[in-house]
Amino acid sequence: MIAVNEIKVKNIITKTRVPAGDYGINPYIGCPHGCIYCYADFIRRFTNHAEKWGGFLDVKIYGNKLNIKRLSGKTVVFSTATDSYNFFEKKYMVTRNILEQFTHSDVKVEILTKSDLIIRDIDLYKRIPNIRVGISLNTLDDSIRRELEPGAPAIERRLNAIKKVHTEGINTYIFLSPMFPGITDYRAILNECRNFAGMFYFENLNLRGSYRPVVLNYIRNKHPDLIPLYDDIYKFKTNQYWHLLEKEIFAFCHNNGLKCGSYFYHEKIRK
Ligand code: SF4
Repeated sequence: MIAVNEIKVKNIITKTRVPAGDYGINPYIGCPHGCIYCYADFIRRFTNHAEKWGGFLDVKIYGNKLNIKRLSGKTVVFSTATDSYNFFEKKYMVTRNILEQFTHSDVKVEILTKSDLIIRDIDLYKRIPNIRVGISLNTLDDSIRRELEPGAPAIERRLNAIKKVHTEGINTYIFLSPMFPGITDYRAILNECRNFAGMFYFENLNLRGSYRPVVLNYIRNKHPDLIPLYDDIYKFKTNQYWHLLEKEIFAFCHNNGLKCGSYFYHEKIRK
């Protein structure tokens, strides 16, 4: 059961520290995908939501016009703290209505989602000259997806959707995020997606928020063999694992003619 509220907002766009963007747009507060590793769950504290993460959604009702001229040449990222294409978007169309304002502009628009609802907006993407649409995933195994991202669409639906968007001539990318040590098989994902993604990004699993014990409990219960590795990375804080993995990924992409960027060090994207 998800508690849904409509809230009127005067502003929908904020400056973002996300390395890929200048501004961020989150058409919703909360996210019914309820990923167990979601860093955005800190929002509950600021919005007085007592529900668990994934159990509420505030729909932003925004009737104003964005100052598109002021955003000229800037990069606007959708979904820095929600999923703009969560399944309520089907009904409310907040994301679609905001996107309409970017048509025929020179604003760089970045969409990132776990949802196949992007297919609905292909007609719109075609009218936004500098748009890129990305899907995030960290496994091809849907049973693991169900454990980590219980409310999010199945992997197969995401892959079919991004394939379709790519086929329609839209710039696409795959965001491997967050990469779970010992679980995320980046080679398998790259091989699966190489024909319909222009770029691959990688982000490591960070365990800094209140979700840390949740993720570590998950590892203890479902992947006990990985406990020594997680202890090494998260308890003793050795970065060696990520240094080596990044090197390995860059080499793999280089050898396979794939474009890639790393978010392992969050202040900037490394290529
Ligand atoms: S889809 Fe993104 S915003 Fe939504 S719960 Fe998962 S990680 Fe958080």
